[in-house]
Amino acid sequence: MNKCLSDKQVLLFLMLWDTTHFILDFFLNFLSASMRLKRNGSYTLNRKSKGKPNGKKPVPEEKKLYLEPEYTKSRITDFEFKELVMLPREIDLNEWLASNTTTFFHHINLQYSTISEFCTGESCQTMAVCNTQYYWYDERGKKIKCTAPQYVDFVMSSVQKLVTDEDVFPTKYGKEFPNSFESLVKKICKYLFHVLAHIYSSHFKETLALELHGHLNTLYIHFILFIREFNLVDPKETTIMDDLTEVLCSSSGSSGSSNGSGNGSGGSGSGSSSSSSAGAQNHVKER
Ligand SMILES: [Zn+2]
Repeated sequence: MNKCLSDKQVLLFLMLWDTTHFILDFFLNFLSASMRLKRNGSYTLNRKSKGKPNGKKPVPEEKKLYLEPEYTKSRITDFEFKELVMLPREIDLNEWLASNTTTFFHHINLQYSTISEFCTGESCQTMAVCNTQYYWYDERGKKIKCTAPQYVDFVMSSVQKLVTDEDVFPTKYGKEFPNSFESLVKKICKYLFHVLAHIYSSHFKETLALELHGHLNTLYIHFILFIREFNLVDPKETTIMDDLTEVLCSSSGSSGSSNGSGNGSGGSGSGSSSSSSAGAQNHVKER
């Protein structure tokens, strides 16, 4: 696992630097946007309710603002993410997956936090992405009806537990990754995708008002190229956002091809909290 420690240390340092830079840049933009909003005073965000839970009538397809060319062009960097996500030589695959997954968790959590005050039980009565609803499943596999903020909270608290669990994401020298590691990473990525997709489908207006759409697009491209590179999420799961992926990733040095077909339907996951490390491994279940 540690054949080339010095190379690895350099690489991890570079990744850390990149992450820190990204987060600082993100916060500076967010702060300046917030200050602008306060100064202008008259700014109000539309908190219109979305479709009702279990509504029988299909919600008519709204125009997708996030597909407008003037917004899809926006990025914070033109970095060649396709190269950035590739496994570097001499780096252990699991180490690479662990490091990237943890970083994406923090970035997506941060991105969601910028609009979380608008993602309420009232505005988002279900975890909706376009016309699809996702449900959470508890540890016993029982379907839980929840609002979007509750769903995101389930996702973030489950992932937080996993990435800080030394038995699942080991950080100490000589400690091995569990056999279930890759499948857990896949499940984490699936739920993080749901959160990103929800931000686009339900909170793009707010993201635009905060002028954080460039960050969102950049994060999305980086994340999609990463999960593609290692086949971490079933293409059927991401079909729901293929129109966006096509536009963003095709202009980003990737093929942008849409794999798979069919409509994603209710996602699932499991449960909130059991405390032992063995329980933590079962936090996120296959639907
Ligand atoms: Zn929401």
